[in-house]
Amino acid sequence: MNDCCDVCHGPLPESSDRYACHSCAERLRAMLAELPRQLPLLRSLLRPDGGPAQRGGTGRAHSPMPVRLDVLDLLGPGHVVTLADPDGDQTDGVPIDPLVYGWARYIAQQHPAVSRDRHGTIQVRPCDGPRSRRGTDVAAWCSWLIAYVPYICRQPWAADMLDQLEQLLRQIRDKTGDRPGRTVRDAPCPRCEGFALVSVGGDPYVRCEACSLALAPDEYAEYAAKVLPSLTALAVRLALNGQAETAEHRIPA
Ligand SMILES: [Zn+2]
Ligand SMILES: [Zn+2]
Repeated sequence: MNDCCDVCHGPLPESSDRYACHSCAERLRAMLAELPRQLPLLRSLLRPDGGPAQRGGTGRAHSPMPVRLDVLDLLGPGHVVTLADPDGDQTDGVPIDPLVYGWARYIAQQHPAVSRDRHGTIQVRPCDGPRSRRGTDVAAWCSWLIAYVPYICRQPWAADMLDQLEQLLRQIRDKTGDRPGRTVRDAPCPRCEGFALVSVGGDPYVRCEACSLALAPDEYAEYAAKVLPSLTALAVRLALNGQAETAEHRIPA
């Protein structure tokens, strides 16, 4: 049994069989929903812009590359290879499709497949692989993985999966420039008291960027209703005092 979430290190309920908390489960869902939305943008970047032909240019020694290799690296085929990783720094470089399919395949292989052979004997062996009625593209495997989020959060490798997806999305967002909308919330963080609570599009939790606290939507609403009225009154009082002081300074001696 874990005391705290392997991902955000927030507390878990007593006797929890989870390795990732509810708020990290929502973040995982949000990332898996965002990945397929980023794909068309990423594909549109595959061909570098030729730009207008330049008269009198000095010319090139080589033909320009027909595709952007950094984008192709993310969209292309590949294999998830488990390497000896003593420093824990080899999560970079797996393209999107092999990464999401690799995790779906790994999860499927944890489940037993039960069948009966021609002699009527029941055979139990690991699943050959995942199947999705939606197809075999990235969107299909992402929605397959979303259905398994409750299972994933109870596995000791949940933090590894979130970490890999986060790194992949960071690389994609850096190229597409498309990032989920971010709203800074008015109330200070109830744990570290910093004004660092934000909501990010697609993720229902309000998170502190200073101390990683995550508040469920109803928890934030209840807390904000308690603290915001007195904070607003204080801000108004300070503003009025400031105005009065400024007026005093303007009176000639
Ligand atoms: Zn967590
Ligand atoms: Zn905080």
